[in-house]
Amino acid sequence: MELWIKEVPEDILGEARQVREDLHRHPELSYEEERTGALVAEHLRGLGLDEVRAGVARTGVVGVLRGRAGGPCVALRADMDALPVTEETGLPYASEREGVMHACGHDGNTAVLMAVARLLSERRDELPGAVKFIFQPAEEGYAGAKAMVEEGCLEAPPPDAILALHGATGLEVGQLRVAAVPNAGMTSFRIDIRGRGGHGAVPHETVDPIMIGAQILSAAQTIVSRETRPDLPVVLSICAFQAGSKANIIPETASLLGTTRATEMETLDRMRGALERVAGGIAESMRGQATLTQTESYPPVHNDPELLELVRRVGAALGGERNVVELEGQRMTSEDFSYFLEDQGGVPGVIFGLGVGTDAALHSPHFDFGHAALGPGILTLCNLAMAYLRGR
Ligand SMILES: [Zn+2]
Repeated sequence: MELWIKEVPEDILGEARQVREDLHRHPELSYEEERTGALVAEHLRGLGLDEVRAGVARTGVVGVLRGRAGGPCVALRADMDALPVTEETGLPYASEREGVMHACGHDGNTAVLMAVARLLSERRDELPGAVKFIFQPAEEGYAGAKAMVEEGCLEAPPPDAILALHGATGLEVGQLRVAAVPNAGMTSFRIDIRGRGGHGAVPHETVDPIMIGAQILSAAQTIVSRETRPDLPVVLSICAFQAGSKANIIPETASLLGTTRATEMETLDRMRGALERVAGGIAESMRGQATLTQTESYPPVHNDPELLELVRRVGAALGGERNVVELEGQRMTSEDFSYFLEDQGGVPGVIFGLGVGTDAALHSPHFDFGHAALGPGILTLCNLAMAYLRGR
């Protein structure tokens, strides 16, 4: 494969570093990306894009760069939100906001896409089609992608494909990690149990919601072991059990909070039904009540096989065969990128991991996207977009 560009011009790389440091210093939580969104919109307007729409899904930004008319349109996506984590990196550009941090590296994802927009707009005469830039809010559990789609980010013009990268650990800087299903689907749920409170000395006069919760907690695991296909990866984790206040009071209520994960939507739906049945049945058999509420859900990310192959080829052209790493096993973390994709009524797409310069885990207070990954990220995304527009 012939690459469109082999090196990022020094001025663009320098700007990307500055932009990332600035974003890293000023992280903003989901749906509060006012400053970030404004910076992105100003940047895109300054590049002379054909259209820039700000305030999409509150703080999101969509830009359109038109090259040759009649060609295909490819969308490139970055997420902008930070996390409620107190930074402990000690970096000179560490977060200036107490308790908020770019612990998932969205500062890097955004800086890369802003630089890609500059590079492509400076050479727009060479574009055999259009490029749509999608900067979305609220990836961290609040389905910003879904809100962006609902507000028309996949219309006028509708992209033929969507591509995205996300900083990843466990790789060398610049390496790409690819997978057919890079992220599982997830739901978050809560089970509210109602019993009848009373004195700990007279349990027979109460309906103990803690005991009901304990039974539900163990029985829920049989949904994984007895009600789902053993050949498909599934997770059900109950991560909070809230009840009670004192050693001699049986409380009136208890709540369980948890998450389910699966690679197919159908499995998630089946687990939800089973959880509702198990919780309700156990509570009833013990004279109480339980209600299940689904609080969040992201569908699984199913990468388009042809686009995935394109990522492999571009990655290999950039850094040889060892630049592309196939994901081993299945990751059960989730990504709202799925809302842009075909099986959710969107378009074919692919998301892949980009190795960044840290061993710290995503969402940890020590995580940093690092400057070294900016260049490889920009090169990969530019070449991918061009390869797609040129018809591979
Ligand atoms: Zn993230």
